Amino acid sequence: MSAVFVLDAERRPLAPVHPGRARLLLKAGQVAVFKRHPFTIILKRSVAWPAPQRFRLKIDPGSKTTGLALVDEQTHEVVWAAELRHQGARIVERLRARRAVRRGRRQRHTRYRQARFANRRRKGGWLPPSQRSRVQNVVTWVQRLRRLCPIAALSLELVSFDMQALQTPGIEGIQYQQGTLAGCEAREYLLVKWEHACAYCGATGIPLEVEHIRPSSRGGSHRESNLTLSCVACNTAKGTQDIRVFLAHDPERLARILAQAQAPLRDAAAVNATRWALYKRLVELGLPVEVGSGGRTKYNRAQQEMPKTHWTDAACVGASTPEQLRNWQRVRPLLITATGRQCRQMCNVDKRGFPRGKPKGPSRSHGLRTGDMVRAVVTKGVHRGTYIGRVAIKSDGYFKITTRAGEVEGIHARYCRALHRGDGYGYAHGSLAALPPQV
Ligand SMILES: [Zn+2]
Repeated sequence: MSAVFVLDAERRPLAPVHPGRARLLLKAGQVAVFKRHPFTIILKRSVAWPAPQRFRLKIDPGSKTTGLALVDEQTHEVVWAAELRHQGARIVERLRARRAVRRGRRQRHTRYRQARFANRRRKGGWLPPSQRSRVQNVVTWVQRLRRLCPIAALSLELVSFDMQALQTPGIEGIQYQQGTLAGCEAREYLLVKWEHACAYCGATGIPLEVEHIRPSSRGGSHRESNLTLSCVACNTAKGTQDIRVFLAHDPERLARILAQAQAPLRDAAAVNATRWALYKRLVELGLPVEVGSGGRTKYNRAQQEMPKTHWTDAACVGASTPEQLRNWQRVRPLLITATGRQCRQMCNVDKRGFPRGKPKGPSRSHGLRTGDMVRAVVTKGVHRGTYIGRVAIKSDGYFKITTRAGEVEGIHARYCRALHRGDGYGYAHGSLAALPPQV
């Protein structure tokens, strides 16, 4: 389950309710459906007192997918979660196609174009379009959720590791302690410092172990300057040998590792530009923003024995995370995919860049737009039946509907009723993070 959002008649957000309760309210006719995604109901009366602001929206931004989780700060329940898939790669692809067409057009000399070279200055804080869209996706969803739920605060994973946690008095250097907060922060620190790769063979994308450059059995310390990361194979091969013996055949790599081990890493190195830009935008919204580190997220998630998904990571962001999150086993995340609303291209082109077909028609037909979710009840003809799905409009009024079963073409607009207006995102429901305990 995921909680159902509730608005009062004035469209002010109230505390979300259990779907079972929402069903009863709907049956009793006290509420109406306000929005399908995320599911929101609206009371037919106003509520005299404003709802208590006790919900915290937690965000784990990622390059492909961002996790969102709403946590009730009083009951420590995860009430709602979502995974927001970004469209970075699609934006890059579209810009590349546009660039190719424009370049071809310039080559053809169809008309004189003034040379432009002095108007390409980038403003401070500029982000590439693909990354800007990620920031905008998250800000959009924070604003949307604020309209549906009384959110009091935000938590954001901003950095990979936290220097403060590493330098806690009493911890000598980075002691590598599995399962402690300092140990988790140390691991994240090493991952950034050694660029997520095995120091000995350069392998990436495989499990990495924390490795003592000078083995502890030979008196090597647990300080950060003596630690690196290696793959399981290299770690086993090295065993208790000294690094100078192990890498005797590769003096170049040896020198590089020894130099990098001594170089300290600044905290700032763990913040990437996109997360920083997102943080600035979220602060502008006026809600208190708590920032957390990746090390703490991992530690919190391990403590609660939660599986790793984007939304469970989000639920574990920051120091405010309760020691025992409740109800997370029963949360089914909403899977949100950024699709964009429209295309700005006015005319299709063939592979040589010449216009193909007619220019783009109006984006609205019979009150519907491409991307709207509709329910069509066709009463006669070959398509007799009921269809629920995404509509693609045509100016003649005969639409295409993409349902779960497939595509149906030639459904007339008079049969279609909008269920959910296209809002630039696609929706689906995810599965449970863990099966509920068997009784
Ligand atoms: Zn290796």
